[in-house]
Amino acid sequence: MSQSTFRTPKGTHDLLPEDHVYMTYIKKAVRHRARQAGYKRIETPIFEHRSIFERGIGEHTDIVEKELFMVSSKHSAEQEEGDFALRPELTASICRSYIEHGMQQLPQPVELYAIGPCFRHDRPQKGRYRQFYQYDFEIIGLRDASLDAQLIHVVHKVLSDLQILDRLRLQVNNIGTAENRGQFVAALKDYFIGKERNLPELDRKRLETNPLRLLDSKEEDTQILIKSAPKLDQFLDDESKEYHANVLEYLDTLGISYQENPGLVRGLDYYTQTVFEYWDETTGAQNAVGGGGRYDPLIAMLGGKETPAIGFAGGMERTVWQMKQAGVQPPDKDQVDVFVAQLGPEAKKKCLALISELRDKGVHTIGALGEASLKSQMRLADKFAARFTLLLGQVEVKEDVIILRDMAAGKQKQIPFKKAIPEIIKLLGDRNLDTYTINDHIGEGVDED
Ligand code: AMP
Repeated sequence: MSQSTFRTPKGTHDLLPEDHVYMTYIKKAVRHRARQAGYKRIETPIFEHRSIFERGIGEHTDIVEKELFMVSSKHSAEQEEGDFALRPELTASICRSYIEHGMQQLPQPVELYAIGPCFRHDRPQKGRYRQFYQYDFEIIGLRDASLDAQLIHVVHKVLSDLQILDRLRLQVNNIGTAENRGQFVAALKDYFIGKERNLPELDRKRLETNPLRLLDSKEEDTQILIKSAPKLDQFLDDESKEYHANVLEYLDTLGISYQENPGLVRGLDYYTQTVFEYWDETTGAQNAVGGGGRYDPLIAMLGGKETPAIGFAGGMERTVWQMKQAGVQPPDKDQVDVFVAQLGPEAKKKCLALISELRDKGVHTIGALGEASLKSQMRLADKFAARFTLLLGQVEVKEDVIILRDMAAGKQKQIPFKKAIPEIIKLLGDRNLDTYTINDHIGEGVDED
């Protein structure tokens, strides 16, 4: 294969600058709302021991059965440690970290958020990739219906900041305790005795391994049979029903509209009680931009002390898609304010210092420091869509002046060289200077990543 034929692997994509502005905008909204609500940022490795996902998410889920990306090691000592897998989601890793770092000693609940890539070896299609980004909120250490509502409220704020909330519909359900689901699964299996033959092969297998997944099966034959099958809500105990009623009441209090959806189960083993998803108003489950739920058993499943928790994960590519559909244009902070053009060795030296000083003052500045003619440098300035050009040729160096050109107006004037910076700053306006320095925000976590 020659170099030029290399492409991104199937199901992955480059995040080019024009899309990156959307991702940065989403991260900003997430960080802002997370900080307001006391969440702290965490970052876990991109790969983990595969058993973390197998135990937590469940061996018979699509994510583990078919979609886990394995990481193999050539080193025999590491092979003994067992296999690794790229993380398909963030929750299980965050819980592993909670246990590993004794976070149960901290004041509870521990509220964490994370942003990063996840990997699922799925069949790629629109909105479904093998590498995609999630942002994620977790509240670990307490169970209270008001926390479920508060978590949903933070997500709501983010979606509202991104101006896509009105394109989405919050679906909510309560799937009860593991015991409730055990009874329901037994009833479901009973119901299907003698009817297995009518199920498509895949669903017949699921009936054995993870019958809950029949509820959101895409197969028409299964859907028909499911219609008259026992329903999960018939098996909920009183506590679960009360819990659900409380969650809904708190959502009402917070002014959050939702749709109750008894068919929503979110197939992973670790969920109990509240589950929820944000669906596209028109296309529904296919394009969910995020989902979550209460996962009280997970930390014990991973070897920790029994610890209740709830979380949410949003898909960033699907969020970007929604923003584009809604015509939301995030601010582009990468604009070029000034293009510096020069000619001759003396001019070049003066321009190097000028460019550096402009940048220090918060002016986005680029300069053509090659040997091209002034005319072609001006063309470049146009292509970079610079607002102003500062032009320094041999004559200007001699006379200690510089030419300032307003690119949109097509007008230029000659000014004393030392006036160049104050004049540019006046034209741009103090408010538009990029004067952020890393020291402004030490400890506040306003990193761009
Ligand atoms: P899940 O917990 O599996 O529902 O994932 C949470 C969110 O991540 C989903 O609602 C999607 O927005 C997003 N997501 C999940 N899998 C993929 C994928 N393969 N490609 C793109 N986004 C995904």
